[in-house]
Amino acid sequence: MKEKICHAIRLSLILLAVVSGICMWQEPMKSEAAGKMRLNKKKASLNEKKKLMLQVKKPKGKVAWSSSKPSIAKIQKKSGKKNEKAVVLGVKAGKATITAKIGKKKLAAVITVKHIHKYSQSTCARPATCSCGKKSEV
Ligand SMILES: [Zn+2]
Repeated sequence: MKEKICHAIRLSLILLAVVSGICMWQEPMKSEAAGKMRLNKKKASLNEKKKLMLQVKKPKGKVAWSSSKPSIAKIQKKSGKKNEKAVVLGVKAGKATITAKIGKKKLAAVITVKHIHKYSQSTCARPATCSCGKKSEV
């Protein structure tokens, strides 16, 4: 009787070592992490009028995108079977949080939009002015 139990324990130990799949029920968190939804970027910066692509990896349903401040960064285009890809356009300097909502799960990326001074062709006499009001140095 005692020997039989010993044998059973040894057999299960061998099984544990050989079949890694057994570990999955011992650590359910681990198997979940493998298929976890995530954004390709948690934070990013881009220049005004430039675009950036955000993508939800392993989406478990339709993705709904939104921007906390569309006046700073807005969702320009969505694509993919589950809308998992979004093109973010930098509108003007500032910070905005882009949120991807899948069911009850929310994934966010903080987008920093940077302003780059752009001067229209200046004449030799006076400095050109950027849209933000800054004058070029002549
Ligand atoms: Zn400027």
